Amino acid sequence: MYDFSRCKLCGENTAAPKYKLKQMSLYACSNCDFHYIDVLDDFPDEQPGKSLLTEKARNFIESKLPQNAIQLKKDLEFVKAHVALAGVPCLDIGAGAGLFPSLLKEAGAVPHGIEPQQIFREFALEKFQISLRRELIDDPYWQNEYAGYFDVVTLWDTLEHVNFPAETIKAASRLIKPGGYLFLDTPSRDSFFYRVSEWSCRLSQGSKALLLNSLYSPKPYCHKQIFTTAQLWALLENSGFSVVGRSSLHRSGNKLVVTCRKSCERRGGK
Ligand SMILES: [Zn+2]
Repeated sequence: MYDFSRCKLCGENTAAPKYKLKQMSLYACSNCDFHYIDVLDDFPDEQPGKSLLTEKARNFIESKLPQNAIQLKKDLEFVKAHVALAGVPCLDIGAGAGLFPSLLKEAGAVPHGIEPQQIFREFALEKFQISLRRELIDDPYWQNEYAGYFDVVTLWDTLEHVNFPAETIKAASRLIKPGGYLFLDTPSRDSFFYRVSEWSCRLSQGSKALLLNSLYSPKPYCHKQIFTTAQLWALLENSGFSVVGRSSLHRSGNKLVVTCRKSCERRGGK
């Protein structure tokens, strides 16, 4: 059991529950002001050989693809503006149904992907002939075999979902070549919506926490933490990256969209 008083960003024992939300508490760190809920995902058990992809599930996932494709095609353009993708190894963390890796493949890249949920991996294989991996980014599978291997790592709408975002970024950094790129987007705590939500929760002494309940969720794979711009920048820089671009026009102000580049010197990443 994780001790949530240990801040998930700075690692100090300086966090405490700040707001009581529906079936969860929102913790805040007095050292770095990071916000996260006291819920973690279990790594799902799997029964090898047993398919989860029913006709109903397949149709449901299929029905979501067109909407997701609109955003992910813009994300691909964002990546292509920085990197020539032909023949380049790319890793998509939190690949879901495999749509972004399939777009990378169409663009001539060599896609790899991580997706912990079996049902999505089955879908990606069937629909896009893309084999996603179950192992998370800090697993020896990646850390031993793919250190310094990738030109591009992407985290689209993923950092807010993972159990330990600082470890995720550091583990991703170790897999990127010097001079390689990390692209990510994640909700912004600097957004007007977040600030209004927090303000309403504080003024009502927690009784009107409705908006915060829509930003965080105790359900599996839902939002567990939301960064401010300054917190995300500091994490990236401490993980061996320089931020080279941000918030292109295709995202709303509720999101942080970042391109950063792995330092060419041998530092960071630890
Ligand atoms: Zn902290």
